[in-house]
Amino acid sequence: MIQKHQFIVVGGGIAGLGAAIEAKEAGMDVLVVSLTHPVRSHSTCAQGGINAPLGNHPEGHDDTWEKHAYDTVKGSDFLADQDAVELMCQEAAPRIYELEHWGVPFSRFDDGRIAQRPFGGAAFPRTCYAADKTGHLIMHALYQRAVKLGVPIIYDRLVFKLARNDERVTGIVALNLITGDLEAYEADAVMIATGGYGRVYANTTNSINNTGLGMAMVYKAGVPLQDMEFVQFHPTTLVGTNVLMTEGARGEGGYLRNKLGERFMKKYAPEKMELAPRDIVARAIWTEIMEGRGFEGQYVHLDLTHLGKDHIMERLPQIRELAINFLGIDMIHDPIPIQPGQHYSMGGIAANKHTETPLKGLFTAGECSCVSVHGANRLGGNSLLETAVFGKVGGKKVVEFLQSTSPHNDTASVEKALEEAKSQVDHLLTKDGDEDVFELTKELREIMKAKTFVFRNEKDLQEVMDKIHELKQRYKNIRVKTKDKHYNLELERAISLEGMLLIAETIAAGALYRKESRGAHFRTDYPERDDEKFLHHSLFYYKSWDEPPEIKQKEVVITRWQPVERKY
Ligand SMILES: Cc1cc2nc3c(=O)[nH]c(=O)nc-3n(C[C@H](O)[C@H](O)[C@H](O)COP(=O)(O)OP(=O)(O)OC[C@H]3O[C@@H](n4cnc5c(N)ncnc54)[C@H](O)[C@@H]3O)c2cc1C
Repeated sequence: MIQKHQFIVVGGGIAGLGAAIEAKEAGMDVLVVSLTHPVRSHSTCAQGGINAPLGNHPEGHDDTWEKHAYDTVKGSDFLADQDAVELMCQEAAPRIYELEHWGVPFSRFDDGRIAQRPFGGAAFPRTCYAADKTGHLIMHALYQRAVKLGVPIIYDRLVFKLARNDERVTGIVALNLITGDLEAYEADAVMIATGGYGRVYANTTNSINNTGLGMAMVYKAGVPLQDMEFVQFHPTTLVGTNVLMTEGARGEGGYLRNKLGERFMKKYAPEKMELAPRDIVARAIWTEIMEGRGFEGQYVHLDLTHLGKDHIMERLPQIRELAINFLGIDMIHDPIPIQPGQHYSMGGIAANKHTETPLKGLFTAGECSCVSVHGANRLGGNSLLETAVFGKVGGKKVVEFLQSTSPHNDTASVEKALEEAKSQVDHLLTKDGDEDVFELTKELREIMKAKTFVFRNEKDLQEVMDKIHELKQRYKNIRVKTKDKHYNLELERAISLEGMLLIAETIAAGALYRKESRGAHFRTDYPERDDEKFLHHSLFYYKSWDEPPEIKQKEVVITRWQPVERKY
């Protein structure tokens, strides 16, 4: 039987719950459908903080939303849409106070005001934080709020198919992991809030469920993805596991040193040093390693030993514990071996600043979306902010949409999507192929890590495109060996891999297309930014399984800041 709701939110992270809360408060019939329980969303892993121009720090008492917006636009290498950035920065302070009222225990200055720490690329310390567990505490406050309001939430559902007709979105189809059954949901509005795609890289800080399937699903249904070549590599992840060591560690005064003991950032960003934006620091570290000044050809040191035990225990207790658990190193006494790793998706489902996608009734917010506030490079602390702001903005917009649009009543299109999803799953379960889902996934993740990383070039990217084409052909012969209905994780991974292949292909195709270097996208064969040819967004359209995406251009919204050279 097909369940019907006015509004379905796919994903229970900060963005998804924010939208659901807003719609529920306005009296809408909303349902959250999520792969994991909300508090197990990747948002919970966020460590360092969330930006807002509160002006509480003595160095930043005259901070304003305009200054925050300019730092964001400059950080984006002038590719962000400035109307969306303005909205995000205007809404930042109200969102922080709202989160505080909903119970987020932000760290405090001695005078009782919300504390702020320095983060990369910001003119002032404007990152609010709750020790180094900011995401965890925001997620829990939002979840409590959702429970209090009675927002219905179901989880252990892998949503993998969008239902639509020629005019608008009509619903979704999910695999119920508990029962193994397929479930279809009809809705007049759908919000995709499924988070990032980090797992398409072997070296990522992201959680296991960050496969990008939500993005891939709407892409396959004809909605464009945007700016996919812009992938953020975080400078400081633990060597080997790529567990994140928050930028807050440098915000609190941590140093980066090569094997000669030099604070090498003085060569790359003499003024900002360790607190230059992430794209610049990640490239600097990788350059040190490639030129032989790293340790064992793999890592440099993040040194916090001069901060002292009390400071570390108060401000950075979680990452200390992580480094002890994963490497047996206590940062109070010894430097931490770190290397850059995939961290964040600047690109995503194309949307305007109201979170509307080109498909009527389909909305998107959070990391899976590209409303474009981050452009070519995101500043630390701006992603939690984006999820908090645009989840709510999106929820509001959906309410307006539902109040002004008649229901579609097109159950047939949802039934059709359910039938197609059934044959997809049957095919995976019954086919007699010889390809292994885990092997294909591994090969994809390894080549993305090796050749679509911090430094890119034509030859490598072409190799990646060829490899993905090969993997897509082999995917046709995947055999899901596990036949159990209940919690068939091999089946879940096989469905997700289809999405991962599509996402990886847009990243590589975009990187090949963009013959310039901007923000996180650096081409050694085109090392300069080229505003004449490339000051535009790239849009990716799905053509067919056997072909790469079609790429089109979209204008960047410039309201008040003309592009200038980016120096730190
Ligand atoms: C380790 C780490 C630390 C970070 N620290 C910071 C920080 O300090 N400051 C900052 O600003 N940003 C930080 N970020 C980035 C930031 O946390 C994320 O961008 C943001 O939390 C994403 O929120 P979201 O709601 O968009 O998605 P998520 O929190 O990832 O939630 C996605 C939801 O969608 C569900 N889902 C996914 N796929 C499907 C599917 N196919 N079907 C159904 N449901 C699905 C998941 O179960 C989950 O509930 C960090 C990221 C990482 C990885």
